[in-house]
Amino acid sequence: MRVEIDSRSGFCGGVIRAIETAEEHLAEGGKIYSLGAIVHNEEELSRLETKGLVTIDKEDLDQISPRSGEPLLIRAHGEPPAVYGKLNRLGFTVIDCTCPVVLKLQKDISAAYARVKSPPRPGEVLIFGKPGHAEVMGLLGQVEGDAFVVEYMNQLDLLFETGALKTDRPLEVFSQTTMAKDEYRQLCAALAARFSETGLLKVHDTICKQLAARYDALASFAASHDIIIFVSGKSSSNGKVLCELCRSRNIRTCHIGAVEDIHREWFRPDDNVGVCGATSTPLWLLEEVALAIQNLQ
Ligand code: SF4
Repeated sequence: MRVEIDSRSGFCGGVIRAIETAEEHLAEGGKIYSLGAIVHNEEELSRLETKGLVTIDKEDLDQISPRSGEPLLIRAHGEPPAVYGKLNRLGFTVIDCTCPVVLKLQKDISAAYARVKSPPRPGEVLIFGKPGHAEVMGLLGQVEGDAFVVEYMNQLDLLFETGALKTDRPLEVFSQTTMAKDEYRQLCAALAARFSETGLLKVHDTICKQLAARYDALASFAASHDIIIFVSGKSSSNGKVLCELCRSRNIRTCHIGAVEDIHREWFRPDDNVGVCGATSTPLWLLEEVALAIQNLQ
């Protein structure tokens, strides 16, 4: 067998920035808190936790006693403004690692909200994303929760059927940065058809460019190998999207989280094996997986 690692796989810029910032603080000794998992990869998370990273959830904030300036990192997904206020009141020193791409999206949604809500015909903001996803929660926080979130086309249809959305009112549309670009394109095309007569639709291209470029390259990578071993944490939304992309190009796509998940019977002699992962998959893990596959021979 030949084994090749996809040269574009590995952390995206936003995740690299957050992890490097955490490691810089950890190198100075002491611990650093992270609000939610800094990366959706169990292997990388446990590596950082052994160095002193402590992951806490928003629910934990209600139980925590006031702090005296301990560092707390906001991960690349970002947070709603209310969370910053709460962290400051609790006495944390906030280290904001919101990805600049997400930060810009937050600002753009806030500006769009101010536009569409102005008289005489107040309209709506629509986000194509996963309800409850941390990035989406951060985006909703920019508009006090007053925006629609849809993940599937039938949810969009329902909004029109119930009259929640109307084509005689302005609508501005955004996507969570990690959604599949083909699906966003389809959703926007359906909206454009509905709004063709009124022209009150404004679509924003907000899928992360780094991710979109990786999308095309990954599709070719998957098609040019006999079998794909896709490595990502089970809770990575981006991992699910990219793994499905690989599977659509190569039926022999296997999703694993770690070396232990590899099964010898998946492979055939002379297989040309491709190893790739999500934006939350560390390169060291891809290398470990590639080595383990080589060692099966
Ligand atoms: S996928 Fe793009 S937008 Fe999301 S954290 Fe990474 S670089 Fe930022």
